[in-house]
Amino acid sequence: FEYAAPANEPVLSYGPGTAERAALKKQLAAFKAEVADIPMYIGGNEVRTGKTVDLRPPHEIKHKLGHFHMGDASHVKTAIAAALEAREKWANMDWETRAGIFLRAADLIATKYRYHLNAATMLGQSKNAFQAEIDSACELIDFLRYNVHFLSEIYRQQPVSAPGIHNRTEYRPLEGFVLAVTPFNFTAIAGNLPTSAAMCGNVVVWKPANTQVYAANVIMKILIEAGLPAGVINLVYASGPVIGEVCFADPHFAGIHFTGSTGVFQTMWKTIGENISKYKSYPRIVGETGGKDFVLVHKSADVDTTVTALARGAFEYQGQKCSAASRAYLPSNIAEEVKTKLAAELKTMKVGTTEDFSNFINAVIDEKSFDKIASYIDNAKNDPKAKIIAGGNYNKTEGYFIEPTVIETTDANYVTMCEEIFGPVLTIYTYDAEQFDDILVTVDKTSEYALTGAIIAQDRYAVELATRKLVNSAGNFYINDKPTGAVVGQQPFGGARASGTNDKAGSMLNLYRWLSARSIKETF
Ligand code: GLU
Repeated sequence: FEYAAPANEPVLSYGPGTAERAALKKQLAAFKAEVADIPMYIGGNEVRTGKTVDLRPPHEIKHKLGHFHMGDASHVKTAIAAALEAREKWANMDWETRAGIFLRAADLIATKYRYHLNAATMLGQSKNAFQAEIDSACELIDFLRYNVHFLSEIYRQQPVSAPGIHNRTEYRPLEGFVLAVTPFNFTAIAGNLPTSAAMCGNVVVWKPANTQVYAANVIMKILIEAGLPAGVINLVYASGPVIGEVCFADPHFAGIHFTGSTGVFQTMWKTIGENISKYKSYPRIVGETGGKDFVLVHKSADVDTTVTALARGAFEYQGQKCSAASRAYLPSNIAEEVKTKLAAELKTMKVGTTEDFSNFINAVIDEKSFDKIASYIDNAKNDPKAKIIAGGNYNKTEGYFIEPTVIETTDANYVTMCEEIFGPVLTIYTYDAEQFDDILVTVDKTSEYALTGAIIAQDRYAVELATRKLVNSAGNFYINDKPTGAVVGQQPFGGARASGTNDKAGSMLNLYRWLSARSIKETF
C-alpha cells in the first residue's frame, strides 16, 4: 500500500493565555501530585523487582517524581526470550496491519497524550515547553508517520522481470532481535529507535537512559494502547554493561540501534566483534554518537543572523543536543559586535524550572553532567588562553543550573574547541577575516566529530566554498541557520567520523538497515 508523505505535525505555541498552556500546566501539576511506580514491560507483563531507582526533576532535585524498577541479567534474558517468542507472528503479520499500530500511536500522541508526553519530558529531562513540544510531540509524531511512508516506498521497490522470468524482492526483518539503546536528550529518539526497527517486522529489547525513564514509560503505554502485541518491544532497565553482556553474547542478536556517546558505542562494537562467530548473521550496527558542532561566520555575514544562530544553536535545551553549536569562528571585522550582541542576548535568557514558562534555560540532566560542565568552566577561568565573556556561574543547591556561558579563546585548539561538553557552553575563536581559506582547514581538522555545522555568510562564493571544503566535516550542514533542529522528512539527520554510522534518522537510509532482502526468481 502507498502511504503518501504526511505534513509535519504543527508546533503549538503554549503562549500566555492559550488553552494548550492551561492543559499542559494541569498535566504538570497532576504528575507532581503523584509518585509514579514504573515497571519494566517484558512480553506483555509489567515487571517489578523491588530494587527501585528514584526519579527527580533535574531542576527540582528535592522533589520525587517516582521510581522505576531496576532489572538484572535475568530480566534481560527474559526480554530476549519474549522478543523471540513474539517474532514469528510479528514478522509475518501483514505490513499494513503493523503500520496501523504506529500510525495510531502517532494520532494518540497528537490528540490524546500530547500534554502527558510533553509534561513527562519537561519534568523528567528538564526541557522547557517549546523544546518538549518540538521533541516529544512533533518530532516523535513525524518519526512514526514518516517511517510508515518511507517503508511503504521501500516495499514497493521491485526489480524488473522479463518474458519467461518473474523477479521480486522481499524485504524481510532481520533473523533475531534488535537492541535499542536510547539517550536522555530526546524523547523523539527514545520513541524512534525501537519503533523504526519494529515497524520493519523486527522484535526489540529497548534500554533507555535512566534519566529518560519517566518519558519512556509514557511512550510504552501509548504503544500498548495503540495495539502493539506483547513481546514486540520489551522495555528493560538494567545497567549498560549487563545489557551488553547478555545481548551481545546471544546468538540471536541481530542489530543495535544506538544514540549515545562515542566511547560506549566503540566499546559495544568491540564486544560485538569479539562475539562475531556466535551470531547467525552479521549484526547491523547503527549509531549516532555525538558532535562538536561548528558555526563558521564569514566576513560578509549578517550580524543578527549570526547572533541568533549562536544563541539558539548553542543554548536551547542547555546545549544538550548532539547537534548543538559549541565552537564558533568569528571573522575579525564583526567579532566585537557579535560578542557584544550575543552577551546582551544571553542576559535575556532566564534560568530556572520548566514549570515557570518564562524560563528559557532549565537544568542540565544530572549531577555527573553538571560537575563535568562546571569543571570545563573552571578550567577556562584559570587558563591564560581562555576568558569567560558571558555567564560562567553555576549552582546545584535546588537543581543542576548552569548559566549560558561563552568562553573566548586565542587558541583554535583550546580544549573546549575540541571536546564535546554537552552543556550550555559555547567557545569562540576570532580569526583574521581575510584568511577564510585557512579557517576552513582549521574547522575541518579541529574535531574528530562530523555531525552538524553551519556557515553564516551573505557572499555566495563563501557559501559555495565552505559547502565544498567542509564536505566531510558535518552530516547536517546549515547555511545561514543554527545547526540544530533537523525536521523529519526535511533534513535527514546523522553524521560520520566519530559522530556515527550516518544512517540518517528519519529517512529511508535508516530503515534499510532493519531489513534483510530476499531476491526471488521464477522461470516459466
Ligand atoms: N536531531 C536533533 C537536532 O537536529 C539532534 C539529535 C541529537 O541530539 O541526537 O537538533
